[in-house]
Amino acid sequence: MKILVVNAGSSSLKYQLIDMDGEKELAKGLVERIGIEGSRLKHSAGEKSTVVEEPIPDHEAAAQLMLKILQDSEYGVIRSTDEIGAVGHRVLHGGNKFTASMVVNEDVKAAIRECFPLGPLHNPANLMGIEACEKVMKGTPQVAVFDTAFHQTMPPKAYMYGVPKMYEEKLHVRRYGFHGTSHRYVSRRVCEFLGVKPEGKRIIICHLGNGSSLSAVKDGKCVDTSMGLTPLEGLLMGTRCGSLDPAVVQFIANNPLNDDGTPVGHPISVDEVLTMMNKKSGLLGISGKSSDCRDVEAMADAGDENGKLAMDMLIYGIRKYIGSYAAAMGGVDIICFTAGIGENNDRLRAAVMDGMEFMGAKLDPEKNKGRGEKVISADDSRVTICVIPTNEEIMIARDTLDLVTLGKVRDN
Ligand code: AMP
Repeated sequence: MKILVVNAGSSSLKYQLIDMDGEKELAKGLVERIGIEGSRLKHSAGEKSTVVEEPIPDHEAAAQLMLKILQDSEYGVIRSTDEIGAVGHRVLHGGNKFTASMVVNEDVKAAIRECFPLGPLHNPANLMGIEACEKVMKGTPQVAVFDTAFHQTMPPKAYMYGVPKMYEEKLHVRRYGFHGTSHRYVSRRVCEFLGVKPEGKRIIICHLGNGSSLSAVKDGKCVDTSMGLTPLEGLLMGTRCGSLDPAVVQFIANNPLNDDGTPVGHPISVDEVLTMMNKKSGLLGISGKSSDCRDVEAMADAGDENGKLAMDMLIYGIRKYIGSYAAAMGGVDIICFTAGIGENNDRLRAAVMDGMEFMGAKLDPEKNKGRGEKVISADDSRVTICVIPTNEEIMIARDTLDLVTLGKVRDN
């Protein structure tokens, strides 16, 4: 069966068509600037690629264009949309309702809508993507795969915040965690790769990209993760500040600064502070130049103090989480790096693991060089350290196939 994987943003729609017979990627693409001037579709299938520039007013038009190019005589890979067995959608926030992926029906859509306040930037866009595909592919099953679902096994001591309990009971204020599809894929794949069972294993997954999160996975189940009610909590990220004293929000709201460092002169709202903490902070805010780890590392190499500080903060934060998750699980057996930075930046991996021999984790500098799926720990390291490239699309496609053929999701 061919499964279409869709990740809809507020002005974008990313897609990948996968033939589940062999899990082969047939085509992929990105519709950008939906509803904005200059909208276009970038599409590739094997060696062939093309860009279509035309007005794309909404997500329905984007979905239509995606189907058109997938059936194109030159760049297409299917003859009819009937060949698409089902569509799997990435959905950011499933709240505490979803512990697994679900076939979309009216109840599921209502629940995604209920989570709009928890994922105000993503959930409305994700639902638009689902509704657009429902309209242009009538009768094709749609499946929602939630970024939060894998973390729903966390115990209350890990997901509760220390505010009055009624906030969790009445308003569901708690840690949810994100990147769940990636953490699930990598925690399963690393065991398969090493030829071990998840049962009895204590794994720390470091998903380090533009957004970053760590998770602690024990016996195959997530027991803690660094992102919280929203993706703002946890590590320093590309543009997000990560964890801080909540009183900082009030202090900055009362004493805001303009981009040039001069005082604004009047208080700003909490919403405005959070926008700054989500979009102008992290590597970007500390380096003052870029949210991209490659740029910031280059700044540090050139002797820029702010670039160096940003990299130091990122690395120190990852080390602290690894230490705390090892303590929380009573030890660690596998540490796994993934996502843009985790997969590609061997220097950062070496800096994170430097001096971790005290907990039985020793990197092999030679094995650590380069990219790809591999073990990077020394032969005498008790903890196995690995790099596993993430593949959220395949996880979404597998869940979608399972739900439409078996009626349930397998733990794969
Ligand atoms: P992601 O969000 O997973 O796409 O990751 C984006 C981050 O990965 C950015 O900070 C990039 O600097 C980093 N990254 C991506 N590719 C590379 C690479 N080849 N070498 C080093 N860093 C990379």
